[in-house]
Amino acid sequence: LLAFAGAVAAGDIEVIDLTHTLTPEFPTIVMPPELGQCAPFRMEEVSRYDERGSAWYWNNISMGEHTGTHFDAPVHWISGKDLANNSVDTIPAANFIAPAAVIDISKQSAVNADYELTVADVTAWEAQHGRIPPRSWVLLRTDWSKKSGRDYVNMREDGQHTPGPCPEVVRFLVEERDLHGLGTETIGTDAGQAFHFNPPYPAHYYMHGKGRYGLQCLANLDLLPPTGSVIV
Ligand code: MN
Repeated sequence: LLAFAGAVAAGDIEVIDLTHTLTPEFPTIVMPPELGQCAPFRMEEVSRYDERGSAWYWNNISMGEHTGTHFDAPVHWISGKDLANNSVDTIPAANFIAPAAVIDISKQSAVNADYELTVADVTAWEAQHGRIPPRSWVLLRTDWSKKSGRDYVNMREDGQHTPGPCPEVVRFLVEERDLHGLGTETIGTDAGQAFHFNPPYPAHYYMHGKGRYGLQCLANLDLLPPTGSVIV
């Protein structure tokens, strides 16, 4: 561990921030109007070196749990609701550190906003980079994090159009590769149109049902190597 800390301090290990900065404008997932909605980020100044606090600056903040770059725990989905240690306060802290395999589907996503990651994509990646080790994150690089506002959500009359995994590849990654979790640059771990899939929202359904995790609204995945990174 001291060697690790020394390598970080010396710059021999590069540390990359995978998060967006929260702002009131950062898009939230939009559910059908009859359902509950995720709150956007809000910030209210308490004081800024002024009569409300002469020497200090601080804010009160509020947001939905799923606003901005965030983690999905198994308790988020009905399939994971009865699992032990299924919420962020009870998940073993060690589970918040795991290696990552970064699969680049940015070219496919650029021409097809509904691109679905397939088992063939994963096996083609493995032919080049080796088998995905057990308990790895799989991070889907789509370059979606470079979009903003309406382009980022990509809402049309029939819902959101953003890339994500097909149902078969989620099962494959959980059952055949012992996936730690799935991370995406988009607003959910599932594709924008995944309510049409069987089962609906397969990444949420299969992963959280097996106690696996999600990361969403990630940034800077283009700066990560295909293998060799560790996510904290
Ligand atoms: Mn979420």
